[in-house]
Amino acid sequence: MAVCTGCSLLCEDIELVMTAGAISQVKNLCRKGQGHFQSLLTERTKPMIDGQEVKLDQAIGKAAEILKNAKRPLLYGWSNSTMEAQAVGIDLAKKLGATIDDSSSFCQGILMERILAGKIPTSTLDDVRNYADTSIFWGSDPSNSHPRHLSRFSYYPRGEKRQKSYEEERTCIVVDVRKSATARLCSNYYFRLPPGGDAEFVEAILAVLEGKIPKTGDKKRIIELGSILKKTEYGVIFPGRGLVNSLQDKMDLFENLLAKLNEITAFKVIPMVEHYNARGFNQLLLDKTGFIKRVIFQSGLASQEQSLVAATKNCDAALVIGSDPLSDLPFGMAHALAKIPLIAIDPHRSLTTDAAKVVIPAALSGLEAGGTALRMDGVMIKFESIIKSEHSSDEQILTKIMEAI
Ligand code: SF4
Repeated sequence: MAVCTGCSLLCEDIELVMTAGAISQVKNLCRKGQGHFQSLLTERTKPMIDGQEVKLDQAIGKAAEILKNAKRPLLYGWSNSTMEAQAVGIDLAKKLGATIDDSSSFCQGILMERILAGKIPTSTLDDVRNYADTSIFWGSDPSNSHPRHLSRFSYYPRGEKRQKSYEEERTCIVVDVRKSATARLCSNYYFRLPPGGDAEFVEAILAVLEGKIPKTGDKKRIIELGSILKKTEYGVIFPGRGLVNSLQDKMDLFENLLAKLNEITAFKVIPMVEHYNARGFNQLLLDKTGFIKRVIFQSGLASQEQSLVAATKNCDAALVIGSDPLSDLPFGMAHALAKIPLIAIDPHRSLTTDAAKVVIPAALSGLEAGGTALRMDGVMIKFESIIKSEHSSDEQILTKIMEAI
């Protein structure tokens, strides 16, 4: 059995047949996982300095030189790396007096902070499969982002206490600004919101739970939703970026909603983080520094950077690992990063590797390199490499950079 690192579900039931050292047959992969496995063969990076191919040791030496000479280095990425690599990355940041961050500042960070602090109750996906009768996908679309979510855990499987499953015992609710693939699947309970309308919707649900008439929205349907929530025995909300980006500094409202729901019944939250080890980075950084994101080390002590915008503006060199910030970050930040010396550690070519001063090729985690990661629900998953590779793992590369500094 192999583990797929195509998304944060980290499916552990992938069956492979290897012929002459290559994968010849594969079972249980979804289409996203297929693409992930096939990426072994496409657009692989080579060690480069200033666009010229070099030996790996030269690229590592140049990366160490850039980081050593930088006054305010930024180490960015991490959610597609193993926990072992993330641990070396945090040590490297401490040694350099650098800022370290992942994309959670723009994704689920503000929600994950509350989950890891125990302010919002959470659950494992195994409990969802065994006990959950109501799943709410709020601003998330698992049919595309985590294609086996509904079949393995939240809607179709027959769990210990949910033998009648989706036919009789499970309700799937979707709250979104558009009729996503998941919303089409659960169309009886699809609630369409205007962009930015999540706070009003939370207030309307809270009103219904308190026995009042909601002031906004389709009152009849919100009252119907309220009665489903009240009858729920074990409910789980799976928020995506849509909800988090819409609520932002009104996240207290969501916390209030969970507190109210838990006065009535059991309701949990599992953030739908996307990259396979996004939760692992937040947890590890919290364990080592007391913060889940945007940590800056000064004289060996950790504090929190004001914002990632400030970090990208102030840094004079950046190491980017398993991430493509020049494509993914807002223009101002991407532009700031493109102007400084970039070191990109990545298995694949991207806009960031194309713009980088130094490129260091890495093994693909889960396929060419083993390690551990935290699934989206915080459960630790171990995996072995399944293919022999000439590439070094992220952990090995970072260790060499650290030794060279
Ligand atoms: S759901 Fe995610 S982890 Fe599972 S096979 Fe698909 S891409 Fe891989």
